[in-house]
Amino acid sequence: VFEAHDVTKTYHMGEVDVQALRGVDLELYSGEFVVLLGPSGSGKSTLLNILGGLDVPTAGTIRYRGDVLTDFDDSALTGYRRRHVGFVFQFYNLIPSLTAEENVALITEIASNPMTPLEALSLVDLAKRRTHFPAQLSGGEQQRVAIARAVAKRPDVLLCDEPTGALDVHTGILVLDAIQRINEELGTTTAVITHNAIIAEMADRVIHVSDGKIVSTDVNSTKRRAEELEW
Ligand code: ATP
Ligand code: MG
Repeated sequence: VFEAHDVTKTYHMGEVDVQALRGVDLELYSGEFVVLLGPSGSGKSTLLNILGGLDVPTAGTIRYRGDVLTDFDDSALTGYRRRHVGFVFQFYNLIPSLTAEENVALITEIASNPMTPLEALSLVDLAKRRTHFPAQLSGGEQQRVAIARAVAKRPDVLLCDEPTGALDVHTGILVLDAIQRINEELGTTTAVITHNAIIAEMADRVIHVSDGKIVSTDVNSTKRRAEELEW
């Protein structure tokens, strides 16, 4: 899906330059589940945001299914992001005055080939909570609504930045299970950022990021189900 070559990102903070990425080469394959693992400040979110078209690199080339993403202008990048990318963040950003189903409908109403909100909520096992408001849902349930919202448009890639970062272990497993099911049932290419090496056991590949670079990649031959992870 993606081929990134020598991607760098420098943030200018007044007098200081922060080099968030220092020459990243990466390929992500269609349908795979990868985990990006690495210490705080190593550049994981920067890389994910660039792949998802939320940010642009300072230098380097990224191809998305053959198209040169790094040549896209603002409107092409926005179109790419809206059509093809689903994002899930640590905080769910649901609209408090809308039910679970209405939060998902905000996206299905504007997408070109969406599933119904109920189908999306069923994928994350929350059909039964569809008339609940965010305040009536647990943190893990709110995150699963956010996942339903992200995948309802049938994105090509699902990018998750610490999706379990605000959750306890048990709740986190339910969220990871939902992400894993979407990867398997819809074939959505999935990248998950985490600090947690245990979560990495679910991945097809684990990409280790350190100091703005990919330092190693492990192919995982003993992939586990979310519910099998031992914390
Ligand atoms: P964490 O695990 O804490 O989320 P991370 O691996 O996701 O860390 P990034 O958020 O990608 O790391 O940040 C990489 C570096 O770039 C850090 O030094 C950070 O301070 C810097 N950085 C990230 N975003 C910005 C920004 N918008 N402006 C300036 N500097 C930034
Ligand atoms: Mg981050």
